[in-house]
Amino acid sequence: MKRDDQPMESGYQRLARRGVSRRDFLKLCTFTCAALGIDLSLAPQIAEAAEANLSKKPVIWMQGQGCTGCSESLLSSVDPGPEEIILDLLSVRYHPTLMAASGEQAVQSLEDCIAQGHYILVLEGSIPTADSRYCFVEGKPFIEQFKLAAEKAEAVIAVGSCACYGGIPRAGFTGAAGAQEVLEGVKVVNLPSCPVKPDRLVGLLLYYLSHNALPKLDGLNRPEAYYRYTLHDSCYRRWHYEKGEYLEDWNNPDTLDWCLYHKGCKGQDTYTNCANAWWNGGANFCGYAGSPCAGCSQPEYYDGFAPLFVNPKEVK
Ligand code: SF4
Repeated sequence: MKRDDQPMESGYQRLARRGVSRRDFLKLCTFTCAALGIDLSLAPQIAEAAEANLSKKPVIWMQGQGCTGCSESLLSSVDPGPEEIILDLLSVRYHPTLMAASGEQAVQSLEDCIAQGHYILVLEGSIPTADSRYCFVEGKPFIEQFKLAAEKAEAVIAVGSCACYGGIPRAGFTGAAGAQEVLEGVKVVNLPSCPVKPDRLVGLLLYYLSHNALPKLDGLNRPEAYYRYTLHDSCYRRWHYEKGEYLEDWNNPDTLDWCLYHKGCKGQDTYTNCANAWWNGGANFCGYAGSPCAGCSQPEYYDGFAPLFVNPKEVK
């Protein structure tokens, strides 16, 4: 345990203690610059500025109607682990799934952080609007607690499709809404996909901490750099699409890399950089793994795109 007379660790010292080298962190900042279209020569400056703010910025992470998949996605990511950046170096004061405190201690932590202000508010999961009884947090209707927390937040970030647009819960009866729909006068940054893509969250946070401003957003409040083009624009199956070669039979090994449009692919309507920046440290993404795009970064997901894996010609 740290004593009061011990010097404060720098952000880099804390990174090193967590097994993330300075080189790894610089690599992450360079990757962020590339993804956000920033001059790569600025990576060291971004690293310095972000590092200076990393250990200071409090974060409140609220979970509404969801499956906790976005937190899980974050915890499972690799090289260097965004979980070290976000969950250790930022001062995460409240996270219902991960915090050690519970009960009154957890409530106190949330209330203290809100009272002090100047924090980043992250929302995971959707917000029920049909009836406040569908989701409670620390004894209060979720929507009330979320609006209260948003009032004093420096920035509000919605992670995952549920938090951005209602996602899968929107297909149900709870009136599930995204963060921007329930907040007036507060700009929400949306990072849709199911689950959130961790490197986008890390990139957004590094940009915010180093610039004290948000990156350029598109008309749906998404960082333009991550959502500028459709999956179809950069899909490696595209040349088969152009030749009219569509996968019809999963059991035919000769056509496995053909276009998945007849299997319900929503890549033509879905803005995402998945085909360029793969998931799980570059291990894979849906299309390369053989799954048609489900359109999870679009507001239409899930209900508006269902049924998902069906030839559009067969959808009535
Ligand atoms: Fe476009 Fe989907 Fe076909 Fe790829 S698989 S070319 S994204 S329709």
